[in-house]
This record gives sequence, C-alpha cells and structure tokens, in this order.
Amino acid sequence: MNKRKKFSLLVLPGDGIGPEVMREALRVVEWVGQYAGVEFAINLGTVGGAAIDAYGTPIQDETIEEAKQVDAVLFGAVGGPRWEKLDFSLRPEIAILRLRRDLSLFANLRPVTVFDPLIETSTIKPEVIRNLDLVIVRECMGGLYFGEPRGIETMPDGQTRGFNTETYSTNEIERVARVAFDLARRRRRIVCSVEKANVTESGLVWRQVISKLHEREFEDIELRHMYADNCAMQLVRNPKQFDVIVTGNIFGDILSDLASMLTGSLGMLPSATIGSSTGDSFRPALYEPIHGSAPDIAGKGIANPMAQILSVAMMLRLSLDLEKEAELVEQACIQSLARGARTADLALAGEPALTTTEMGDAVLRELESLIT
Ligand code: NAD
Repeated sequence: MNKRKKFSLLVLPGDGIGPEVMREALRVVEWVGQYAGVEFAINLGTVGGAAIDAYGTPIQDETIEEAKQVDAVLFGAVGGPRWEKLDFSLRPEIAILRLRRDLSLFANLRPVTVFDPLIETSTIKPEVIRNLDLVIVRECMGGLYFGEPRGIETMPDGQTRGFNTETYSTNEIERVARVAFDLARRRRRIVCSVEKANVTESGLVWRQVISKLHEREFEDIELRHMYADNCAMQLVRNPKQFDVIVTGNIFGDILSDLASMLTGSLGMLPSATIGSSTGDSFRPALYEPIHGSAPDIAGKGIANPMAQILSVAMMLRLSLDLEKEAELVEQACIQSLARGARTADLALAGEPALTTTEMGDAVLRELESLIT
C-alpha cells in the first residue's frame, strides 16, 4: 500500500495551448489530492518561449535542478512562430530536449488507446480500431535529434548544406529495448522493433543489438522486426497486430503522430518520459501530451485538455504509485466522452463543441460521480 502522503511536482505549462490544457490538468490533480488525502506541493516554472522572453533562455539551470529533485515533472508544450527564427540552440524546444538529456530520460512511452465513444471520430473504419491498445516506446535521448556532427555549412560552390547524424550504440539501444520488453511482459508479450536496417547502418546495429538482447534475456516475449516505412503503412492497415512498438527518436516521433489519428485526435495522446526505474516507480520522470503548442488555436480556449489530463493519470501510476487514482482519472475521461463531451477537434460536423474549461468541468463531474 502506498504510504506517502506528500508529493512534489514541478509544473511547466510552456507556450501556446500548454497553459490552457495545464489549467484543466491541475484541477484534476487538486481533485485527486483531496480524494486521496495526499498533498501535492506544486512549483510552477517557466519554459520554452515564455522563458526566452523572461530570461533569454528556453530553460534555466535552476529549473533543471528543480526537476531533478521533485517526484515528477508535468510538462505542457513549447514553441511557436514568435521564436521560429532563433538559432536552434536557443529555440523553445530546447527546454524539452535538455530536460530529457539532463535527467537521463531516454524512453518516451506513448500509449495509443482507442476509447469506444470516439470510434466515430477517427477517420479510420471502426472495425480496424475498435479495442485498439498499443504502446509506442520511443528512444528520445539519441538518434538524429542529438547525433553529432550536425550543422549548416556553405559548400565551396556556394550552396548551403544542412546535415544531421543518425547514430545508435549498444547501450542506448539495450536500455530502451529493456523498457519495451519489460512493458510487453505486463501486456500481450509482443515487441515489434522498428528501424531501417535495409538502408542504414544505425538501423542494422539497432536490429542486431535488440535480437541479441532478446535471445539473452527475453525469450518469453515474441520479437518482430519491421522497417519504419512498412510500420507506417501497417499502423493504418491493421494496427491491432501491434502490442509494444520500440523505435528510435525520429521514427517514434513520426509514427506516434500518425498513430494519434487512430484515436481520433492528437489532443488525446498522453506520454511519459522515463529513465531507469527506482524499484517499482520511475523517478525522475516527465509527463506531457504528445501534441505541441498548437499556435493555430492558442488563446481561443478550445484546445482539448484530455492528453494533458491523461498524462496526469500516467504520472499517478508510474511515478506516484497511485494506481487507483490513475484508473479513476482514465475512467472519468472515458465516461465524459461517452456522455458526448467533445472539444472542436473531436466533434463531428454539426455536433456542439465544448471549450477547454467545459471539457475539464466534464471530467471533474465524472470523477465526482465515480466516487458517489
Ligand atoms: P501541434 O501538435 O502543436 O499541432 C498540430 C495540429 O493539431 C494543429 O492543427 C493543432 O491545432 C492540433 N492540436 C494539437 N493539440 C491539440 C489539442 N490539444 N486540441 C486540439 N487540437 C490540437 O504541432 P505543430 O503545429 O507541428 O507545432 C506547433 C509548435 O509546437 C511548434 O513550435 C513545434 O515545434 C512545437 N511542438 C512542441 C512539442 C513539445 O512541446 N513537446 C511537441 C510537438 C511540437
């Protein structure tokens, strides 16, 4: 039984719709605190474009230090057109990359679950996605987004050349593969490893390392290999063949956005970014929706807060050992959808759409009804 009655959280809403969806997620955190009789000591921090404007840097060192101390970090989203002309090293997105790197958070777990009430919202046929439940484990500290060398240079003939390096080494592959195999042990015991071993050396090494690890430690799990382009196609054709997908940084980034549309909206997908576990729970760890700051709808009060609220559920489960409360939050989300709660991204033509706050209200109402 969980004995702890106090948890510290660092909350980083960020830019665009980040603060809008975070507001609703924090109402849920407050509700859980009262229901479970636990205290959440919440520190609010500034990251992304907001931090660039305030401090001239996407994330301050103090914020990184604080993130290392707390039980969990709840992150919104960063970025926007205002900061797009800055050098890469100064962009808002550096905030999330630095948090992952400095806290050694190498595995991003992205559950793709189709909730029954949203079957009609997806653009994919109901029979293809009904009861879909898969998890993408994306390596997020290496690969193309971190590989060196990288840069932009002028070639002798005056052309400009941009270059990045896709690189993976044994340890980087093994540690994320372990997360995927461990997860599969608690699920349907199938891991599909995704790369481009047919055309890239890093993909070939990825395949070889995972195969050897599988032989050594995880023979009870079925291991499949798939090229990333085929995986994109299979995710649309027959997504239920997957249980756990493990892949590198860039393929994970793209495939999980693709998979989000199976669920109906990018606004539905939460994620957890974890490092090595300490006992049964992950600390430090970072929880965030997979969507970005959505500048096209920011400030309108219409963003879907579900992905952020479901990220709270993942935090309760994976870092705070509050499983029962995590389930309550997930149930409340499903039930509010079942009763017709829809933000604009989920509403079908002609259906009324709720504001972000009204969607938060709907989830809180269901939380109350679940415990009475
Ligand atoms: P995005 O995820 O912000 O938006 C893509 C589309 O989905 C938009 O049409 C948007 O309105 C919609 N959408 C996203 N979340 C939604 C929600 N909760 N409710 C309703 N609709 C939603 O991706 P983008 O437009 O490619 O990027 C915008 C900015 O966000 C960029 O600066 C990008 O770098 C940044 N970004 C940040 C993160 C992060 O903070 N982890 C992740 C991805 C993108």
